[in-house]
Amino acid sequence: MHEEQEELKRRFIVWLSGWNASSRMQGNSGGAVNVELNLKMAHSEAWGIFLLVLLSITTDGRAIGSCPEQEEPPVTRLREYLRLKTVHPFPDYLPVTKFLIQQAQSIGLESEILEFAPSKPVVLITWKGRDAGLASVIFNSHTDVVPAEASKWTYPPFSAHVDSGGNIYARGSQDMKSVGMMYLEAARSLMDAGFRPFRTIHFSYVPDEEVGGVDGAEAFVNSPNFENLNAAVVVDEGMPSPSGKYRIFNREKILWSFFIRAVGSPAHGSRLLDSVAVENLRKALNRFAAFRESQIDLIKTGAVAGEGDVVSVNNVYLKAGTPTPTGFIMNLQPSYAEAGFDMRIPPEADADALEELITKEWAPASQNLSVHFVTKQNTRGENGEYLITRADDSNPWWVLLRDAIAQAGGDLGQPETRIGASDSRFIRRKGIPAFGFSPISNTPNLMHAHNEFLNAKEYLKGIKVYEEIIKAFSGQRDAKGKLDTQESFFINPEDLHSISQKIRIEL
Ligand SMILES: [Zn+2]
Repeated sequence: MHEEQEELKRRFIVWLSGWNASSRMQGNSGGAVNVELNLKMAHSEAWGIFLLVLLSITTDGRAIGSCPEQEEPPVTRLREYLRLKTVHPFPDYLPVTKFLIQQAQSIGLESEILEFAPSKPVVLITWKGRDAGLASVIFNSHTDVVPAEASKWTYPPFSAHVDSGGNIYARGSQDMKSVGMMYLEAARSLMDAGFRPFRTIHFSYVPDEEVGGVDGAEAFVNSPNFENLNAAVVVDEGMPSPSGKYRIFNREKILWSFFIRAVGSPAHGSRLLDSVAVENLRKALNRFAAFRESQIDLIKTGAVAGEGDVVSVNNVYLKAGTPTPTGFIMNLQPSYAEAGFDMRIPPEADADALEELITKEWAPASQNLSVHFVTKQNTRGENGEYLITRADDSNPWWVLLRDAIAQAGGDLGQPETRIGASDSRFIRRKGIPAFGFSPISNTPNLMHAHNEFLNAKEYLKGIKVYEEIIKAFSGQRDAKGKLDTQESFFINPEDLHSISQKIRIEL
């Protein structure tokens, strides 16, 4: 019944907006009304549905859901974007590409499609600055979303349903289609007000962030197209904040994944030997567990600000034993055992010391243990700098960003380390300062969770914040020179003492 109603509603809206393809398909030019009515009459509940459809359509032909008053146009556009299913494992990027290009056209901005992998478009929307000699500013967002278990949601995850409190429920409402639309709505509003930037602004919409960004941001950032943009600074996704303070990220943890392999002579289950494989692995696991505990203690005792400032490490799998079709052989001690780990390292941590800890302390060769890396990202940039965008008065971009947020009435928390990966890591590796910022406060962090939502008011407030940021980043001619220097906006090893929150690795 519900689906049938949705389908009828959809068809009716399509007809109202003047696109009578359904009638044309049936060779009945101009007969859309008849087609729709005939369709309705074929169902017993037809008139009930017809009235319902009429009640839920505004004069401009748009559905307003359960919201009693007229919906703000930016909210309607956001909901439209949220309904496009760019969901893994099979995201369909074509509709969002069309949608974004339409948005750009309606604002009066240029757009182009870049494709670094088949069917995975990067949409680049550009607002040309008045001074072509200035470096540009990029506002980046990803168009894909993670899957949602519809049965666990109160409203369908791609319905963009608005409840009576103005909460918009949809996968991507926080992560991060909302932010992608804030950029464009801010541009639309500034354009309408007659603002013209000095510095060129790019809005990039990249695919595949949720699956590692290889065909998305990584390919884009390493392409000549990106090089040609001559970017001075990039703003990318942050995270929602449950408090009234916005969160901002100037660095992120680096991923190491590895496994420890233990070997030993196979032995009968009855033997009590000193150095069998499982026993060797257990010793390694004990040392890992003690380290893990020490990092948790740093958080518990308040020695660090939070999880971003410690090394996290988790045992993600264990492999041992000799399997049978129904279980394991019970009287055999295996010759091989393995444990896998996911380790996330703050960029300012001493990577060499950490590697020594893993290879020498946890898994010494003398105990028939060995370490095998699966992923080992660098903690430093090409010039030895820490991959930390300066968030102090020495970085003029930070000053502009911080002041713009304040100007919009936003309250900003201390810069943080992002725990999970984002596309910003590719940008920082290029030596370009990047900030992770989603102006979403007073909202529980439901990224990747059930019932992800964003309140319409919070969204509209975010647009205002981005208006100020765009104005600050691109509206000043006198900023030339200071903002366009080649000077590094990253933390160098010799500056580490100046970082208030130092990372402690207890060896
Ligand atoms: Zn995201």
